[in-house]
Amino acid sequence: MTSPDLPDYAPIPQSALGPALNDQGYYVGRVERNLYYVTDGVYNSAFLATRDGVVLFDAPPSIGGNLRRAVDEVAAAEGVSNTVTHLVYSHHHADHGGAAFLFDGDVTRIGHEETRRLILRDDDPARPAPEITFADSYTLEIGGERVELAWHGPNHTPDNIYIHFPGHDTLMFIDVVNAGWVPIYNTNLSEDVIGYMGAPAIALSYPWTHFISGHLGRLATRDDVAVHQAYIADIDASAREALASVDPVPFYTHYWPNVWAGVKAHLDAVTERATAPVVAKYTGVLAAADIEEFTYSTTFAIMQSYRLDRGHSGPVHP
Ligand SMILES: [Zn+2]
Repeated sequence: MTSPDLPDYAPIPQSALGPALNDQGYYVGRVERNLYYVTDGVYNSAFLATRDGVVLFDAPPSIGGNLRRAVDEVAAAEGVSNTVTHLVYSHHHADHGGAAFLFDGDVTRIGHEETRRLILRDDDPARPAPEITFADSYTLEIGGERVELAWHGPNHTPDNIYIHFPGHDTLMFIDVVNAGWVPIYNTNLSEDVIGYMGAPAIALSYPWTHFISGHLGRLATRDDVAVHQAYIADIDASAREALASVDPVPFYTHYWPNVWAGVKAHLDAVTERATAPVVAKYTGVLAAADIEEFTYSTTFAIMQSYRLDRGHSGPVHP
């Protein structure tokens, strides 16, 4: 078999990888008591298997039919119902909710009010809109268990919520921290950079030991969130340093009157200067830190937010 000419990268730290998958391509593991998570090694989902039915949290299409198999496997082993009665959306994105249509019938879907609005806007039959919505918080009580859903402002998306399981010492929070891995492009494809940067501190303000992130195969710890925060803080500091130390004048002078060419040359120079030390520091610490485009584009997004959101866009003309 021939393979295309692709670059090599540093080995993935063993600590970044999740458990081995079964023959059907999934792993289901107990988080605590009757809370379980399901993964295909890339996407994570979760379910609570109560005496009154199963509550599913997200339905990534990549796991798809294996969600049903995982629920059936656990329900049979634990002697509880395998009927999915509720489905909670973490946010509206199709890559985390696109298998929701597999669970239709008497399922009650729950999500933030913005999740409903965005799903209706996107008009994707794979993601039926939630019937129960909330603005700030919602408590789901089922089979003697309690789940606290809360919205604390936009981050990855405008509707991304915190899912706390106070009886299971667990927080589920998707697409901000990737357990053991760097965020992919542009702060993990986030819409609100300031919200994205502040979200891990909100996650840590909850009491929990186990963290279910959206990716990539294993549960996370408080240390994982702290390492992610350090990576983002280092990018932030590096971007500020580079913005302050790269002189923009030669770039604009060189290209004048093509101002956009000057913008590109200046901001590329700033981003390259800011990215290099972060890539060096986190290669071997966070998986895929050496895929420079990820750190580069996240650095660019944070640098732009520093200019546009925080107000450091340059001196005011006298
Ligand atoms: Zn997402």
